[in-house]
Amino acid sequence: FLPPVLSDTIVALSTPPGAGAIALVRLSGPNAIALTDDVFSGKRLRDQPGNTLHYGTIRDGERILDEVVVSLFRAPHSYTREDVVEISCHGSDYIVQQILGLLTRRGARLAEAGEFTKRAFLHGAFDLAQAEAVADLIAANSALSHQVALQQMRGGFSQELRALRARLVQFAALLELELDFGEEDVEFADRTGLVALLQEVQVLVRRLLRSFELGNVIKNGVTTVIAGKPNAGKSTLLNALLNEERAIVSAVAGTTRDLIEDEVSIEGIRFRFVDTAGLRETTDVVESIGVERTRKRVQQAALLLYLTDITLNTPAEVKAELEALNPDQQIPTLLVGNKLDLASEAQIEAFRRLPDTVLIAAASGAGMEELQEALLARVRGEGLDQTGATTIVTNLRHARSLEATAAALDAVLIGLNTGTGTELLAADLRQALAALGEITGEISSDDLLTSIFTQFCIGK
Ligand code: GDP
Ligand code: ZN
Repeated sequence: FLPPVLSDTIVALSTPPGAGAIALVRLSGPNAIALTDDVFSGKRLRDQPGNTLHYGTIRDGERILDEVVVSLFRAPHSYTREDVVEISCHGSDYIVQQILGLLTRRGARLAEAGEFTKRAFLHGAFDLAQAEAVADLIAANSALSHQVALQQMRGGFSQELRALRARLVQFAALLELELDFGEEDVEFADRTGLVALLQEVQVLVRRLLRSFELGNVIKNGVTTVIAGKPNAGKSTLLNALLNEERAIVSAVAGTTRDLIEDEVSIEGIRFRFVDTAGLRETTDVVESIGVERTRKRVQQAALLLYLTDITLNTPAEVKAELEALNPDQQIPTLLVGNKLDLASEAQIEAFRRLPDTVLIAAASGAGMEELQEALLARVRGEGLDQTGATTIVTNLRHARSLEATAAALDAVLIGLNTGTGTELLAADLRQALAALGEITGEISSDDLLTSIFTQFCIGK
């Protein structure tokens, strides 16, 4: 693998635009040091070693633009593996524009979104999955999503994939050997051994695929819809969960007509709670729209939190309501019985016996910890604990590639069991390898790279 020769030098503002203490202008490419040196007064940058800092001024002819500190990195010891200069100037849009203008007039090109990271990838600094993790790391807004992105960036996921790929390549080599000999009755590969190997790989691929459910939750949060009859206490519960007076609490039935939502992080997992209008048959036009919206919203939720006033409803009634709202429990559901403080012993007992049920008093906050634990258990139970995964897939593109890998491996397994010719087996196996290779970028197209790196911000 020869790294491509990238002859131009790119430049961009790598910190967010707007006023700040410091802004960072970054250059990468063969002329990064010379270009900066030409507009810099201080030490002669051309003669300086890598990994050094230099104080001086940036000048446009005689005019001083700013006092700056220049960080110098020499290839291949830099983020992009090229010569890199980072100019730390004062955080003013005007100064930044002047410096960018100066450098581009002298031949640097303004970088496209993600171009620094793309160069790092092209020079083999890391693979595609790791490059994508850089974007995830920047976007991470909870402890868990940060941890998963960091693990992926440091190559944990890639290592696991490489191990899988190595085993498949070993298998493919045996098949190709058979093909080379071309005689129908020559079978080098021990077929029972191959079936066992493929099944083992398939188990690992499927485990990674299952981890995407949790990965998606970690990255994007869990949309949890709070539904229930008017006055069940939905708005009160939302307030308790969010710890603020966001939703309007009212003793008149049906006042929460619009969806009110907000996010809260529970032990590193983000929940987006959506409070809905009360569910009931109604002739009120405005409210009937609200009910319709609730049903739609429930269908899009990752989790349904169904709230009921246990002093007014029996478990049988609640079951019927749930069945109408969420037939066959398509959406994972947590039943929450509210107004524990007003309920009789008999009422409490009746609900205690139901599975997946938590009893609370939203108004006083009783049972809230238990509710939070139940929420976490639902999310984790369907991801991490079942899979036992240490590596978690968070990226939809990766999940799609893993699906394609699993499908191709199934085809190979079926072929092995039904005695399909070596040629077809080899073709299916190549497809599995290609799908797996797409994740780390061992196999990539220009289109794929463009679509991935343009999701980055400029200057990254
Ligand atoms: P929503 O229509 O489902 O949103 O219900 P609200 O949150 O507006 O609550 C309806 C009424 O029930 C309000 O008067 C609340 O103060 C009251 N409420 C909510 N939770 C509790 C609770 O745990 N105990 C008691 N006693 N009252 C509650
Ligand atoms: Zn409400």
